[in-house]
Amino acid sequence: MLAAAMDIGGTKTIIALVDNKGSIINKRQIKTNTYDYKAHFDCCIKLMEECLSEHFLNKQDILGLGINLPGMVNSTSGLLYHAPFAGWRNVKVIDYFSKQTGLKNIYIENDVNSCAEGEMFFGNTSGNFLWITVSTGIGGAVVVNNKLIFGENNCAGEIGHVKVEYENPRKCSCGQFGCTEAQASGTAINTLFKELIHKDSSYIDKLKQFDLNPDASGCAFLARLKDEECIKIFKTCGLYLGRALSTAANLLNPKEIFIGGGVSLSFDLIIDEIQKQIKENTIPQCSVVTVKPTALGYEAALLAAASLVFRRNK
Ligand SMILES: [Zn+2]
Repeated sequence: MLAAAMDIGGTKTIIALVDNKGSIINKRQIKTNTYDYKAHFDCCIKLMEECLSEHFLNKQDILGLGINLPGMVNSTSGLLYHAPFAGWRNVKVIDYFSKQTGLKNIYIENDVNSCAEGEMFFGNTSGNFLWITVSTGIGGAVVVNNKLIFGENNCAGEIGHVKVEYENPRKCSCGQFGCTEAQASGTAINTLFKELIHKDSSYIDKLKQFDLNPDASGCAFLARLKDEECIKIFKTCGLYLGRALSTAANLLNPKEIFIGGGVSLSFDLIIDEIQKQIKENTIPQCSVVTVKPTALGYEAALLAAASLVFRRNK
């Protein structure tokens, strides 16, 4: 069985054909056109059709289309309320795609909620878990008894805005201070690493020596070479994530916490500190939670978009 999947992000969009075992059959990647959503959606459809025709397939050969969107989504009515990165508001996404493609099974979901659905379909979960994306920002999804929890305004699971630093807080994208996103996201790691380079010019030589960028991946590379200051940056990130996850664990008592997003590639550098924080800050019944990287790997969000189709058409 095949599904078409679109992972529409703030900077890039991936369009793919995915089978129900989680293999990507064909894919395209483009920059997200944030100025004109209709032009962007039309381009996505054209690339989906290209992916199909390259494999001598047509739209009748796919079970449906799953679309991840970065923002507030009503998956039942098919409406994107607001995508903050682009200023898209009240876009009838399902209506638009069904008119343009003629496809009947079209599903949309917020990108992080979608990842939680993907973990349920392609991974192995207890049905009581949290899914956290640690990337440019930090987002979360809550699953209780195999059901996503949405909350009054579809904002449940916003762990990125749980406060974890009150004494010396950094400013968050939401306008507040000391949020997990401001203290522990990929962006926060970039900032800490840049501050280190600014303070100690020997890091400029290290970046040149190993052809690294002054960002979180460069910092991870040096941390794995046992650079003490870079290790400290990831420990700091783990400490703040651990504080936020401890709060979530006490509140929701999940069996697992799955971590995805770019920073999950540095899971080995943050997990000890996360576990230490959970052990110190949760009651024993809640401290048994297992923290692990997503089973879906680097393409988690894309597979998740496809899972929106497979989960509803079993
Ligand atoms: Zn915030």
